[in-house]
Amino acid sequence: MGHSFQVPERLTAGAQYIGGRLRPGTSGRLQDVVNPATGESVYRYEPAGTADVDAAVAAAAGAFPGWSGATPGERSALLHRFAAVLGEQADGLAYTESLQCGKPLKLTTGFDVPGTVDNTSFFAGAARQLEGKAAAEYSGDHTSCVRREAIGVVGSIAPWNYPLQMAAWKILPAVAAGNTVVLKPAETTPLTSLMFAEAATAAGIPDGVINIVSGAGADAGEHLVAHPGVVMTSFTGSTAVGRRVAELAASTVKRLHLELGGKAPFLVFDDADLDAAVHGAVAAALINTGQDCTAATRAYVQRPLYDAFVGGVAELMESVRLGDPFDPATDIGPLTGFAQRDRVAGFVERARAYATVVTGGEAPGGPLASGAYYRPTLITGAAQDSEVVTSEIFGPVLAVLPFDSDDEGIRLANGTPYGLAASAWSRDVYRTGRATRELRAGCVWVNDHIPIVSEMPHGGYRASGFGKDMSAYSFEEYTQVKHVMYDNTAVARKDWHRTVFGDR
Ligand code: NAD
Repeated sequence: MGHSFQVPERLTAGAQYIGGRLRPGTSGRLQDVVNPATGESVYRYEPAGTADVDAAVAAAAGAFPGWSGATPGERSALLHRFAAVLGEQADGLAYTESLQCGKPLKLTTGFDVPGTVDNTSFFAGAARQLEGKAAAEYSGDHTSCVRREAIGVVGSIAPWNYPLQMAAWKILPAVAAGNTVVLKPAETTPLTSLMFAEAATAAGIPDGVINIVSGAGADAGEHLVAHPGVVMTSFTGSTAVGRRVAELAASTVKRLHLELGGKAPFLVFDDADLDAAVHGAVAAALINTGQDCTAATRAYVQRPLYDAFVGGVAELMESVRLGDPFDPATDIGPLTGFAQRDRVAGFVERARAYATVVTGGEAPGGPLASGAYYRPTLITGAAQDSEVVTSEIFGPVLAVLPFDSDDEGIRLANGTPYGLAASAWSRDVYRTGRATRELRAGCVWVNDHIPIVSEMPHGGYRASGFGKDMSAYSFEEYTQVKHVMYDNTAVARKDWHRTVFGDR
């Protein structure tokens, strides 16, 4: 594979970023970061043990009074500088993200990194817009006002599919609102989270405001969630682990924000623009090699368009170029690792018993055989309650099912416990209007599927979790509101005391 990019030399100091410094972890183990395009280790580190999590929480707690006491304008200025530093480091961030995840460079340079810079500058501005309710005399005798306050040390846990963006989504609203953070990235992809935290320090954000503990879910992750010094857990990952996190967080009554799995439906009505729907479905199913929580995974197509849609999707999928993430001609790279590739292949192999694999369904040979590649895969003929239609596969696999009436299409689209994202395709404003009202998901696109913007919230319904990332709505997760009530009468014996003292 033709690239000479290396992990930045300074990261050899260790993969724990605590109190503004890199250091090795104390778990006593070694963990490799593997380039999934080649199977080669590109970085080896000592993961965090519980002592490292304790140290990071202590650093965050130490930084909290100063950071939460800074003015919104001071925090905003530092976040603006942070966005500028990230922009200057864009190439290194994009290369490192491609190296540790196998993402095509055109995805990391066109989406992951600019999205992160934009999110940082959004929260730099939003930091000055935090507000409570205007003061007013609701009782007549008091002035009530609402203070919106930072809550303390936030423990965040992120997945491996978009490591840099997930670190940004977890950290930025928390610190913009005055909290301090300990983030645990996925054990296999810590590198860009570390670079993100280093860039914050380079921008002047005080030591201890952003800390990274790189380690496994079972030890560092669980210790962070159960930690009594952490007031909130913000988790992005699978629904299964989200359930475990919720159980652990209950022991210390932590505030929770859960961004969990998805199984997004792609609903095509019979008056849709077929070419747009076919291109939209393939792009939305294959972005990030399908490892996207909002990816199109189940297309429901109204019967008159069904055959043409299946034919168009198969043809387009076959034209997608798998390849070296660093080759500008590559459309999609490998899956993020070999275990994930084998998991995806398992779903497809089991599906052969009850459905038709129209295209794909195999790992490519030749020069790609040493990477975690899997061909874009189209499945038809699967029943609504089958595994490929109900389970999150997290790979380049799209199932297509037909429907007849609009009622049936919407019912099938709502037919899994997930509710993160959905799309509706039609030229009829009343049909799409109904779909936007009735599809149970935190985001519904009309005639598109995938785009996001920093100004708008991202989050799930039902088994996809609760709480919002991005946008000013995320401040609801990362702040608490306090009612402050001032007596205006200066009267010692207040009227309401009668309820306690009788007539005296
Ligand atoms: P995962 O649930 O296996 O792991 C997520 C994180 O949790 C990792 O950092 C992992 O180390 C940690 N973890 C694992 N076990 C833990 C435990 N017992 N206690 C504490 N932490 C633990 O998910 P993944 O495989 O890394 O990522 C893919 C999943 O993430 C998919 O389900 C995808 O839909 C979801 N995701 C959701 C969103 C969203 O916004 N809703 C965004 C991206 C990814």
